[in-house]
Amino acid sequence: MLLRSIAAPLTVIRGIGPALIPKLARLGIQNAAGLLCHYPRDWEDRTLTVPISEFQNRQVCTAVTVTARGWIGFGRTRTLKVYVEDESGSAALLCFNRPWLDKQLVEGRRFRLWGRFYYRYGEIQSSSFEVEPLTATESANSGSILPVYPLSAGLNHITLRRLVNSALDQYAAKLEDELPREIIERDNLLPKAAAIRAIHFPASAAELEMAKKTLIYEELFYLEIMVGKRAYERRGIGNGEQGTGSVVSKHSEVTNTQSQQTKTPVPSPQSLVPFPLQQRLLERLPFSLTPGQIKAIAEINADMAGNVSPNGAYSMARLLQGDVGSGKTLVSFLAALRAAQDGGQTALMAPTELLARQHAENAARLLEPLGLRIAYLTGNIKAAGRKDLLRHLASGEIDIAVGTHALFSKDVSYKNLRLVVVDEQHRFGVTQRSLIMAKGNNPHLLMMSATPIPRTLAFTVFGDMDVSVIRDLPPGRKPVKTHLAKESSEARVYDFVRRKLEAGSQAYFVYPLIEGGDEANQKDASLKDAVSMAERLAQEVFPRFTVALIHSKLDDEEKRQTMERFRAGEIVVLVATSVVEVGVDVPNASCMVIEHAERFGLSALHQLRGRVGRGQDQAYCFLVYSNDLTEDGKARLKVMLENADGFIIAEEDLKLRGPGQIAGIEQSGYLNLGIANPIRDIDELARARTDAFFILNNDPGLVLDDHRIIARVLKEAPLFDEVVL
Ligand code: ADP
Ligand code: MG
Repeated sequence: MLLRSIAAPLTVIRGIGPALIPKLARLGIQNAAGLLCHYPRDWEDRTLTVPISEFQNRQVCTAVTVTARGWIGFGRTRTLKVYVEDESGSAALLCFNRPWLDKQLVEGRRFRLWGRFYYRYGEIQSSSFEVEPLTATESANSGSILPVYPLSAGLNHITLRRLVNSALDQYAAKLEDELPREIIERDNLLPKAAAIRAIHFPASAAELEMAKKTLIYEELFYLEIMVGKRAYERRGIGNGEQGTGSVVSKHSEVTNTQSQQTKTPVPSPQSLVPFPLQQRLLERLPFSLTPGQIKAIAEINADMAGNVSPNGAYSMARLLQGDVGSGKTLVSFLAALRAAQDGGQTALMAPTELLARQHAENAARLLEPLGLRIAYLTGNIKAAGRKDLLRHLASGEIDIAVGTHALFSKDVSYKNLRLVVVDEQHRFGVTQRSLIMAKGNNPHLLMMSATPIPRTLAFTVFGDMDVSVIRDLPPGRKPVKTHLAKESSEARVYDFVRRKLEAGSQAYFVYPLIEGGDEANQKDASLKDAVSMAERLAQEVFPRFTVALIHSKLDDEEKRQTMERFRAGEIVVLVATSVVEVGVDVPNASCMVIEHAERFGLSALHQLRGRVGRGQDQAYCFLVYSNDLTEDGKARLKVMLENADGFIIAEEDLKLRGPGQIAGIEQSGYLNLGIANPIRDIDELARARTDAFFILNNDPGLVLDDHRIIARVLKEAPLFDEVVL
């Protein structure tokens, strides 16, 4: 039986009477299937005990013996205080409002304790803990991993665990696998029955991981099956029409010509066969590509092998995701070379002139020696120069046009626009996509992003785009050391930076505002801004060094010169707004100071931090926060100390800011995912997509033996309502 098709009412489950029904309903649990799919939000691992002395302010499991007891307080506030110890130390347990513990916590008895410990009044204490008796000889590590569920009023964990347990006893053994057999075998996934049992009551941490992997993959697989079916419909290919499905996810076929028809493809890094122009660039580079770059370019090459035909047949629509500094630009250059190989033009669009300029310079440095002709086009290029440029674009004398959205203004036309690259795509609106595409004859599209924000997610999930993920950074990058500092201790930060400057390094100082008066209803005169801080840093703080200012209101030429001089080392301290957030690359800059850091989104902070740590030296990032920042605000900034992975930071950002804050897309509940998280699980999502599209490609009617289960799940127990996609 299929899990979601178990329609049995809750009363069928042992231990559920009428009183529990409304309480379960409040959790969205309507029937037996709902109870089994009420996945834990966390697990308590009681299989491993830690010494009391390593309590570290988190939930831990310890094995202790009661050594002494006493009472504190009087009358109704009288509270039992119990001293326990293990080999590493002792702790005091405060038993507020739990009189029954008096009988249990008897001197000399041994217990397993699960609780949160903290240091107070010179001792380790806990007032929130659970106890389980242990015999004198029983191993302390004999505990289990227990599920922690979302709860509703009137339901506690003991009850919910018991109910889930009965439901498992009654149904788990009968559950059928919902994934094609060959995928289960390829990825060593658990059978459905085992996965459902283990997600609630895993026998070990390893088994829990397997269960998560299985269920996450299964959800994403069905999500992508739905997206894939949708893509077929959109491109006018009906289900069941065998053999004509090749418009979807071309690379699946090309990178896996050796594999069997029904084998699911996994593009391998070795599968890159560079085209001659690409080969020549690779030979000129002082480094080799990372595995992630190789995989991405192999996928792009495969995509671009498809012919672009007048009636709009297959063209690439690919999203390239990779953390800041993962080397996406180079991948896009290689893609441009692929287009040029067939005489096609490329337009590379960046969100700011600064970044466009930098890309143009890099393109000139790397690609002109290969005989390619590069042009730079922004809104600021006027009159005669612009006219010539447009003429050359139209006549095909230019191979690569780099610029801002000016690349797609009305008067611009291309001879043979083959590839459009959109860098930092989250900076552009969706509507711009159609504008861009109208400039060519159904050109290939490569979008690049370091921030998996919801719009990106929307493409990933809803759209008919393929995804490449670069998960690795070029070797030798040292993680940036990040520190939080209160505004009142700014002098220490400035002193530290000064020492680095004296050692020959360079620094960025970033502020949320250009000028004090430029925020509409500004109340806070204490807010530092870029313009006045540039003054102050130049005159008072770093008088011996050249300080310059850059922000979006300066004209293109001034920005260009400033960046040039910063890159050349003439300017030592660059004071900026978030204009340096995206893309800028100056390896000798090793310090990033962001003042009023609380005013930036975490993803923006991550991008800013990514500007340093690109050279040989250890890099530092200081997040300076206002003196009156709340604890919550500080906790948000701490995410930056604990994480270097942009994907995790983006996810935290989403969690902390809440979907309501993110414009443009209605986030909440739009995907009915139970356990998968498309942001965290982006790799699995990409894999599920490849698998799902490959299957739909080869067997659109889902009639092969191994695929019949997919058709059944869609019909009898769909996870997603087709309407949401
Ligand atoms: P992002 O993905 O953030 O756009 P960039 O394309 O700006 O990253 O690359 C960051 C830096 O890494 C650039 O200086 C680039 O030359 C360098 N780089 C790119 N690929 C590699 C590689 N495979 N090995 C070493 N350095 C690389
Ligand atoms: Mg970039």
